[in-house]
Amino acid sequence: MATYIVLLGPPGVGKGTQAVLLAQTLQLAHVSSGDLFRENIKNQTELGKLAKSYMDKGELVPDDVTIAMIRERISRPDCQAGVILDGFPRTPKQADALDAMLAEFGGQVNVVPYITASEEVLVERTSGRWSCRAQGHVYHEKFNPPKQAGVCDVDGSELYQRDDDKKETVANRIRVYFEQTLPLVGYYRELGRLVEINGAQTMEQVTADLLASLKKLDKRPLSPS
Ligand code: ADP
Ligand code: ADP
Repeated sequence: MATYIVLLGPPGVGKGTQAVLLAQTLQLAHVSSGDLFRENIKNQTELGKLAKSYMDKGELVPDDVTIAMIRERISRPDCQAGVILDGFPRTPKQADALDAMLAEFGGQVNVVPYITASEEVLVERTSGRWSCRAQGHVYHEKFNPPKQAGVCDVDGSELYQRDDDKKETVANRIRVYFEQTLPLVGYYRELGRLVEINGAQTMEQVTADLLASLKKLDKRPLSPS
C-alpha cells in the first residue's frame, strides 16, 4: 500500500529541505504545493497568474484550485509508491479533500511530522533563503551555502531570493499559518498521526529525528487512535 507523509509546519521551518532528503531515503515522490505554484508562475499559466496574486501578499491560494492541482499531481505514476506532501494541506478543507482523495486511491495519511521553531528562527531562515531558478533547490546563505555564491550546486542555474521571503510578507505568512493551518495540528493529533519534531536543530539532527519517528510509527496500527 502507498505511504503518504504530510510535513506540517510554519513557513521557513525546513519542510522542503527535509522533504527532499526523506524522499530520497524512502524512495517516495516529493510533492510541494509551493513549488507547483512557482512552476506555474514560471510557465505563465492561468493557474500561475491566479496563484501569484495571492502568493505576493503572503495569502493562501483558494482551496478549490489548490486541491485540484494536488489531486492531478499525486495521481501520476511516479506517486504510486507514495508521497511526501510538503505545504499541503494548509486548511481544514484541504485536509478533508486529501482524506477523500487518498481513500479513493486506497490509501490514507500515514504520519504527520509537525516541525516547529520559534518565529525568530523562521524569520532568520526565510530571510537567508536562496532558491534555484531551474528546479527550486534550496540554500541558506549562512546555514547551507552553495559552493559558489549565486549558483546552484546541482544544476548550475541562478539562485534568487523569493519575493515572498521579504520580512513584511513573511510576517503575514506566519499570521496566515497560525489562523488557517494550525487547526490541522489538532486534527491530525486526534487521529493519532501527529509526531512533533524540533525544527530548531541542525538539518542533520532534524533528519535523524524524522527518520526515527517514522520507524516508530511503522509499528503502530493505522486506524484512528
Ligand atoms: P520550508 O519549506 O518549511 O519553507 P525550507 O526547507 O525552504 O523551509 O528552509 C527554509 C530555509 O532555512 C532555507 O534557506 C534552508 O536552507 C534553511 N534551513 C532548513 N532547515 C534548516 C536547519 N535545520 N537549520 C538551519 N537552516 C535550515
Ligand atoms: P513556505 O512553506 O515557505 O511558506 P511555500 O513554498 O510552501 O512556502 O508556499 C508559498 C506560497 O504558496 C504560500 O504563501 C501560499 O501563497 C501558496 N501556497 C502553497 N501551498 C499552499 C496551499 N496548500 N494552499 C494555499 N496556498 C498555498
